[in-house]
Amino acid sequence: MDHTAPFGLPLARRFAGDVVRLRLGLPVAPLVFADFVTFRCNLSCSYCGYARRGYARRYPELGTADALRVLEAGRRAAPSLAVSGGEPLVRDDIVVLLRHARSLGFRPITLFTNGLELPRREGVLDCVDFLQVSLDTLDEVVQDRLAGRPGTCRTVQDVVRRYAQDQAARGFRLHVNSVLGPDTLAGAPALVEFAARHGVRLTVCPELDDHGQPVPGLLVPETRTRYRAALDALIDDKQRRDVLLDTPHVLERLRALQPSACHPDLVARVYPDGTVPLPCPPRAAAWPNLLEGESWRALRAGAEGCDRPCPRPCLVPGPLTASMLVSHPFALLRERPRPGVRPCPTPASC
Ligand code: SF4
Repeated sequence: MDHTAPFGLPLARRFAGDVVRLRLGLPVAPLVFADFVTFRCNLSCSYCGYARRGYARRYPELGTADALRVLEAGRRAAPSLAVSGGEPLVRDDIVVLLRHARSLGFRPITLFTNGLELPRREGVLDCVDFLQVSLDTLDEVVQDRLAGRPGTCRTVQDVVRRYAQDQAARGFRLHVNSVLGPDTLAGAPALVEFAARHGVRLTVCPELDDHGQPVPGLLVPETRTRYRAALDALIDDKQRRDVLLDTPHVLERLRALQPSACHPDLVARVYPDGTVPLPCPPRAAAWPNLLEGESWRALRAGAEGCDRPCPRPCLVPGPLTASMLVSHPFALLRERPRPGVRPCPTPASC
């Protein structure tokens, strides 16, 4: 079994190049193209800044033809793809977009979803390497209140149980993502056991505000103590078995609620209308449109005010994890390989 298959050689090469570039003080190149295909969502999670700030209206999604062009521009920028939102599965053309992404050679392809529409859009499973489903707690009262929709917790658990069984046959890996906030901390141990029981992995993130900073509720001394204890338990679990996805370095940073040096250009993001927040959403200094420029690289090179050191480092997961991996590449060697993921055989079969 080839454990590296879902990651692909182009990503490995780009990663190695970035490790070297970073040490030589040269600009890094994107590892991942983060395509926010829509900001519409079928939930209204209390911690979601996109919903709170009305992003679905501010950044309306492109039609299919232009969304496909965005993917093509993204492939020229980065070897791997993360499709998120909003809720990507509310797009009727999501299978078309992911099939095209696969034919372009993105690897791996990760799809972030709340999972509610998955039974209607099962075709996406044949085009992704990683499926990341949001589930913050198994406590139905808490989860349903956070999501703003009764029945969410039970439905998402059913989705995880059902599709966890399809991982090997359909060639993807299922991850559960949990936002750890004051109301969900107590449920973290049960969530780890749930993930272990169903053969999926768990990744965590502290609840953040619109600037990527921990929400004030997490900084209350009593809650902060509970938060640290929850992270200690996760770090301990990580040392014993293979359920937590996050590396020990990342978990330590999350425990301390302290980001390290960030390299935001490791993640090239595009919003649903083609807008590119440069260098990153929390401190964007330029907002060009990918469809109006030559390429992501040209847009980035022409963007002024993006190269200053970050004045207020955040804990936004994508840049945090990418920056830590490129800064500490040998941490990856300590990760246990996961058998059972086969690459999508040919683009035509996706
Ligand atoms: S830490 Fe990174 S992603 Fe966060 S605001 Fe600073 S540069 Fe942007």
